[in-house]
Formats: sequence, C-alpha cells, structure tokens
Amino acid sequence: MSVMNQTPKKEFVLAVEGLTVSFDGFKAVNDLSFYVEEDEIRVIIGPNGAGKTTVLDLICGKTKATGGSITFRGKELTKMSEHEIVHAGIGRKFQNPSIYEDLTVFENLEISFPRGHSVLGALAFKRDAEVIAAIQEVADEIFLSEHLNKTAGLLSHGQKQWLEIGMLLIQKPDLLMLDEPVAGMSVAERKQTAELLNRITKGRSVIVIEHDMQFVEDIAHRVTVMHQGKTLSEGSMERVQNDPKVIEVYLGH
Ligand code: ADP
Ligand code: MG
Repeated sequence: MSVMNQTPKKEFVLAVEGLTVSFDGFKAVNDLSFYVEEDEIRVIIGPNGAGKTTVLDLICGKTKATGGSITFRGKELTKMSEHEIVHAGIGRKFQNPSIYEDLTVFENLEISFPRGHSVLGALAFKRDAEVIAAIQEVADEIFLSEHLNKTAGLLSHGQKQWLEIGMLLIQKPDLLMLDEPVAGMSVAERKQTAELLNRITKGRSVIVIEHDMQFVEDIAHRVTVMHQGKTLSEGSMERVQNDPKVIEVYLGH
C-alpha cells in the first residue's frame, strides 16, 4: 500500500468489550463490543427495545454491568460511580430535556459551569470574566446568544434541547452522549442540530442514539446497528443500510 493510502491509525477513546447486563435473567445488552475514536460521531440505531438507551446507562454508570468492560482513555468505567464518570469527562443527555425552567438561559449555563456544586452555591459565586466568556461562547454554539436573559421555560422545544446540550458543553466533556436529541424538532431545527454536532466534535467523541435517518446521514461517521442487545451491523451509513440483516430486522418491525 502506498503511503498516500494509509490513514493514520487513531487511538480508540472508548472501548466497550463483551458488555452485558441482565435484568432478572433478561439480557438487555448481551456481549456487546464497539470502539469509538477521537473526533468521531458514532450513531447507534436499532428497533425499540434493542438496548440502545441501556448502553448509555451503562457507560455513564447509571446501570451497573453484569459482565464485560468499558474503558475510556484507559480507565475502567464499570467500577466507577456516576460522579467519577462525569469527572472522567463523560457528559450524557437524556431523552427529555432536564433544564431549570424557572431560570434564565444564562443561569442554566452558569450553574452547569464546572465550579458549581449546588444551585444556590453556583448562583452565589461571582460572575467573573471567565465564566461569562464561557457562557457566551457556548450560547453562540447552541444558537441561543440572543436569548441569554430569557426564562428557559419559554424556549421552544428545540431550543430547550440545545440548552441542555450547552449545559453539557460548558463542562467540556471528552465524550458526549445524546439520546434521541432531535425527537420533536422541526426539520430546520434538525438541520441546525446536525450542524451543531458536526462543529463540536473536534477534540472529542460523540455518541448519538437516533431514529431520524436523514439526521443520521447528516452526522454519522460510523453507525452501529443494535438488535436484541447485540451488534447486528456496523460501518458507514451506506454499508449498514444495504446490509441484508439490517433490512430484515427493520422490515420485520
Ligand atoms: P432502546 O433504547 O433500544 O429502545 P432500552 O435500552 O431502553 O431499549 O431497553 C432494552 C430492553 O431492556 C427493553 O426490553 C427494556 O424494557 C429493558 N430494560 C431497560 N432498562 C431496564 C431496567 N432498569 N430494568 C428492567 N428492564 C429494563
Ligand atoms: Mg431508548
């Protein structure tokens, strides 16, 4: 092979190997392995009940694995608490936005700034230049710089989703995990979210669970298709879309 054709081998940031979790004998995730690189957006797709959300629960420590390992930048996550996993640089967004509806956009971002420990404590600290600059930067990234003083509860559904992404971004995670981030968004908001994700990937890794195939196509570097707790197929969007096993599972539903 000529030098021109050789892509430099990237280090895996996240290695999931033989991951299994059993709920009363039912294996929601069953001997699952996959690897994510730096700067990569990985999308996990699969029918309802395939185990996608459970994989994120396992990575962020909300659910404890029955077997297998999850290593992130060389650290074994399955032995760590949720808090330690956040500290290791992993941010996770759940399906429904969990923002403080009564606070402004600015305050929501401020309390998410890594120095804050409690809502009250965070609001009490001095709004120094560093915090304000970080909030401005993130607000620009999530299309909310014109809405900093707006009460978060008054934002549109899509803007709330972006705010929650911003609340993770301000913590500068190395791995960002998003569960169905464009559910309920307009077509225009979906496009903007794809642009946002493509922009923020530099220097980090992103795992997204999504059903919207146009959105998946707009963001995915690689796609992992899950079925019954296992990997059914993996590769480029084009490759998995043309995989007869994938077609069968989707047509079968
Ligand atoms: P997906 O996100 O792919 O739709 P989930 O990961 O939410 O699927 O769920 C996979 C399966 O595991 C489902 O059958 C679900 O009912 C089951 N499951 C998920 N979490 C739990 C739990 N904490 N206890 C028992 N069963 C669970
Ligand atoms: Mg789910």
